[in-house]
Amino acid sequence: MVEQSMKYINAYDPEIARVLELELKRQRTHLELIASENMVSPEVMAVMGSVLTNKYAEGYPGHRYYGGCEYVDLAENICIERAKMIFDAKYANVQAHSGSQANFAVYLALCKPGDTVMGLDLNMGGHLTHGSRANFSGKTYNIVPYGVNPETGRIDMDQVREIALECRPRMIITGASAYPRAIDFKAFGDIAKEVGAYLMVDIAHIAGLVAAGEHQSPLPYADVVTMTTHKTMRGPRGGIILTNDGAIAKKIDSAMFPGTQGGPLMHIIAAKAVALGEALHPKFREYQHQIVTNAAVLAQTLLEGGMELVSGGTDNHLMLLDLKNSEVSGKELEIRLDSVGITANKNMVPNDPRKPAETSGVRLGTPAVTSRGLKEAEMRQIGGLICDAVNDFDAKRKDIEEQTAALCERFPIYESKFKA
Ligand SMILES: *Cc1c(COP(=O)(O)O)cnc(C)c1O
Repeated sequence: MVEQSMKYINAYDPEIARVLELELKRQRTHLELIASENMVSPEVMAVMGSVLTNKYAEGYPGHRYYGGCEYVDLAENICIERAKMIFDAKYANVQAHSGSQANFAVYLALCKPGDTVMGLDLNMGGHLTHGSRANFSGKTYNIVPYGVNPETGRIDMDQVREIALECRPRMIITGASAYPRAIDFKAFGDIAKEVGAYLMVDIAHIAGLVAAGEHQSPLPYADVVTMTTHKTMRGPRGGIILTNDGAIAKKIDSAMFPGTQGGPLMHIIAAKAVALGEALHPKFREYQHQIVTNAAVLAQTLLEGGMELVSGGTDNHLMLLDLKNSEVSGKELEIRLDSVGITANKNMVPNDPRKPAETSGVRLGTPAVTSRGLKEAEMRQIGGLICDAVNDFDAKRKDIEEQTAALCERFPIYESKFKA
C-alpha cells in the first residue's frame, strides 16, 4: 500500500516522491531507537491521507461552525468513545494537533498568566512545555521546577512535596520525555490535594503502556491527563486530553477551540480513531508488554557490558545511557551509531557536566523496533553493538554495520510481512 501510493506520487511530483523514497529507505535500513518514535500501520497511514482532510469542522460534534459535518462528526465521536474506553475516562478531547498543543490548552484552561506551576526540569527528563524558559510555558507562568535525586536518578517525592508546600502552585505537572522509571501518580495526587493544586499528568511517552496496564494509570489521581498519539500509542501525530471532571472538560474544550486552535484535522482524528481501535485489540497488550520486556533486556545487556544507566535501569520503554564517566559524549555516540545504522538521540543526564549541544547521555527506546518485530535475542545483540560502538568503534565499525543491516533485512517494514 505504501509503495503503491509512492509510485502514484512519483508520476505526479518526482521531486517530493524522491524525498519519500529516501525516507522510506532510511527507515528500512536503520534500527530506530528514538524513544518517542514509532511506525504506524499502513491502515493508520491510509486514513491520514484521506478525503477527510478537505473538511472544515471548527467546533465539536453536533455543534460546528460549518455545514456538512455529519460524517466527520461520526469520526470524532468514535475517536472520543474509544479514548474514553481505553483509558477509563469520562471525557476526552481529541482535537489537539500535537502533544504540545494539548498542554497549551490545559494551561489556558486551568491557569492565569503569572500563576505558579511546578514541572520536571527539562535537563532532568521533563518536556519543553513543562516550563522551559524557551517555551510559552516558561515565558507565561511562574515555573518552579523539581528534579531528580542526583544519587538515585529518581523523582524524590519528599522533595516534590517540600517544594509544593513552599511555593503553593496553581498546578503541578508530572510526566516526562526522558525518565526511565515508573512515576507514582497517586503520590503526586496526594501532594496536589494537600496544597490545593491541579494535577496535570502528561503521559505523552507512556500512553501505550498505560493503555495496556504496563504502567499505573494517572486517571484516578489527576485532574487532567494529556498525551500524544504517535509515541507508544503508535497512531498519527497528535494529542488527546482526558479528564473525569465535567467542569474541567468544559474549560478544556473551549481552551482547545476557540482558545488555541482553529479547525481540527479531521483526517488525523479519524486516524487516531483507527489507532485507538488497534489499541483495543488484545495484540496491543502483547505489543506493549514486549516493549517493556525489550527495554529491560536491552538495559540488562548494556549494564553487563559495563555501561552505566541513569537510575541503574528502566521500568518502562526507555533508558538513558550515562556517559558522564566516558570520553565519548552523547553527541559523539549519536553520530557513531547513526553511521552504522542505529538511530538514537543524545540527551542531557541529571547534573550533566557537558553542554546541551554535547551532552553526556544517549536516550534509547524500544517502541519502534518492537513494532518491527524484534524481541529479546535481538535486544541482546543490539546491546552488544552499542557497547562496541562506545568501547572499540574503529575496530568494530564494519561488524556493527553488517549486523544492523542483517537485522533490518530480517525485520522488514511496509512490506507484506510488516504487521505493525
Ligand atoms: C513528546 C512530548 C510532548 C509533545 O509532543 P509534540 O507532539 O511533539 O508536541 C509533550 N510532553 C511530553 C512529556 C513529551 O514527551
